[in-house]
Amino acid sequence: MNLILLGPPGAGKGTQAVRLEAARGLKQLSTGDMLRSEIKAQSAIGREVEAILARGDLVPDATVVRMVETRMAAPDCAKGVIFDGFPRTVAQAEALNAMLAAHGQKVDAVVVFTVDDAILIERVTNRAAAAEAAGQPVRPDDRPDVFPNRLAKFHRETAPLIAFYERMGILKAVDGMQPMAEVEAAIGRLLPAK
Ligand code: ADP
Repeated sequence: MNLILLGPPGAGKGTQAVRLEAARGLKQLSTGDMLRSEIKAQSAIGREVEAILARGDLVPDATVVRMVETRMAAPDCAKGVIFDGFPRTVAQAEALNAMLAAHGQKVDAVVVFTVDDAILIERVTNRAAAAEAAGQPVRPDDRPDVFPNRLAKFHRETAPLIAFYERMGILKAVDGMQPMAEVEAAIGRLLPAK
């Protein structure tokens, strides 16, 4: 089974992806984490995308699609993938459909997290402040001068995917403003049986 967790930055997709990974034996594939590892390693991709991430802009579709395609060929993705942070544009969604179809697979379900912008800003501000207070590094794109750009990119580039997957008949919505355990239970009720 292939699932997509769709939603604005700070919506809790990563938290739920980890829980689903354990519950369903699927592999979480977070393009944000993959890109941050490339930056850490200062690979060719990492050097290409570092400034883009720091500004809160989107990495070019071709770069992300190539990275995902390579990663999905690994054996740990064979049972299915939970996409977290991908696709983020209609072009990426179309590329993913084609990529899966080429292997006789498809996207089985898309869970969209609904969270108000004001709550997202509050969550990310708190997360950055907590990291700072603990002496931990703050993600450059969680900073208050950058985060609004990530939200704007979500509304402009990624939100059209809601209608895209609705047309495919596989969209499920969950209220991402509930406590984490309740979001988890709601997702469990929405998804097809294992
Ligand atoms: P969040 O969900 O909190 O916004 P992510 O870790 O998913 O954070 O992504 C961080 C950044 O990585 C994004 O702001 C963007 O610059 C880049 N990125 C991640 N996934 C993609 C993608 N599918 N397409 C383009 N850029 C991406």
